[in-house]
Amino acid sequence: MKKLLLTCGLLAAVTATPTLADDLVIYSSRGEHLIKPIIEKYTAQTGIKIKLVSDKAEPLIAKLQAEGKSSPADILITVDGGNLWQATQRGVLQPVNSAVLNKNIPTHLRDPKGQWFGFSVRARTIFYNTTKVKPSQLSTYQDLASDKWKGKLCVRTSKAVYNQSLVAMMISHDGAKNTEKTVKGWVNNLAQAPFANDTEMLKAIGDGRCDIGISNTYYYGRLMKQKENAHLPIGIFWANQNNTGVHVNVSGAGVTRYAPHREAAVKFLEWLSGAEAQNLFADLNMEFPANPAIKPDPAVAAWGTFKADTLNVSNTGVKQREAVMLMNKAGYR
Ligand code: FE
Repeated sequence: MKKLLLTCGLLAAVTATPTLADDLVIYSSRGEHLIKPIIEKYTAQTGIKIKLVSDKAEPLIAKLQAEGKSSPADILITVDGGNLWQATQRGVLQPVNSAVLNKNIPTHLRDPKGQWFGFSVRARTIFYNTTKVKPSQLSTYQDLASDKWKGKLCVRTSKAVYNQSLVAMMISHDGAKNTEKTVKGWVNNLAQAPFANDTEMLKAIGDGRCDIGISNTYYYGRLMKQKENAHLPIGIFWANQNNTGVHVNVSGAGVTRYAPHREAAVKFLEWLSGAEAQNLFADLNMEFPANPAIKPDPAVAAWGTFKADTLNVSNTGVKQREAVMLMNKAGYR
């Protein structure tokens, strides 16, 4: 009798969740408010339930490592090629070869081995106070090191992975020696100590404490959307248009090494790269869709078009350690 009851209980559990085999678990370091609408849409369309575990990138990677084969996670979502590369180095992702993903996501925005794919693009470019600086005075990240910007430049701390990635890409293009010169020049030109985040730095440009600085575009978008800041005289300038292009980075995702639902995980990523999901994924954070066939949000498109750096974003990881040491040596805190 006891046995029969147990069997009945199990049966009931199985019928209550018929899609159990396809349900997904996502570990994500992207803001929950940016992920939830996407998950809800996918569940509404497919019936597939998704469990979301949110934390910062580092603890999530450590969790995946500690859980190993018994991890319930199918997908890791995180921001910045530097973090995604770390995940590959620590063996928590697996290669995916999908014709859909390879078609929808440009080569430079995905891991050469298919361990992660970029799903939205953020540009890290130059911003300036429009009452103090003319765009014709601006050109490249490297030029921000020139004497003419002495006491006028503002930057976010070098501890931010965004800056480590920018410097890593500069090393890839210019070599370590030239990049060290550039970074030293930045340090010499600082108007004040590095800021804790991009938004504070942009505000300082807006109120004239700094003439110029470097920020991700979506922070600018968010700031200018706020009524109390919309009047700030901050301009966006697309850097390095005559050579390497603007430094771009991604929000990306990969299938975890021991994903219990590998096939369903790949399907979800394929959906994420397509028309329906791309705008949702990018627009919520004022980023650019990674799929070039999809137009950005009108508010983002209003910033104008630009030439982006097409060197593979994975270089941000490959050269991350070197970038950190170089910034340290150059006195960039
Ligand atoms: Fe950010």
